[in-house]
Amino acid sequence: MEKLEKIKYIIVHHSERTIDFPLFIKLRHKYLRHWEDIGYHYLIGGRNNLFTTNGKLYSGRPEEIIGTHAIRYNRNSLGICLIGNFNKIYPSKEQLFTLFSFLNAKTEEYSIPIQNILGHRELPNVTKSCPGKLVNMDYIRKKLNKLKNKNKKLFT
Ligand SMILES: [Zn+2]
Repeated sequence: MEKLEKIKYIIVHHSERTIDFPLFIKLRHKYLRHWEDIGYHYLIGGRNNLFTTNGKLYSGRPEEIIGTHAIRYNRNSLGICLIGNFNKIYPSKEQLFTLFSFLNAKTEEYSIPIQNILGHRELPNVTKSCPGKLVNMDYIRKKLNKLKNKNKKLFT
């Protein structure tokens, strides 16, 4: 499997299915789509789902390996998938909490600017609604920015 280049972007996705589990996604990606492994690097468990813990961060493809989740962006991005279909319901507060701490940690670790956190649908030529119509990416970027500023004040 090919190694990732410098990580410049984080791309946010949803699984589109309410009842889902990282292993099921991995099996679909491997055996139905014939990919080498699960497409995403990380996944966050959702609510109303017997198979995942709401808000739990799951590992997918190893972080140093190129994912299969966003055409033309795979070489330099991490892919994270919120489990659920957010065209219909909002992500749970537990999922968002985990997403914000993940985004905060990874943007620090790889010096990724906040504007490079993108929803899948924000990439050129993507016609899907991923990560779901009810996920507002501007809100996510703004709120993360606020969290970072607050932390800076706390630790300086
Ligand atoms: Zn997607």
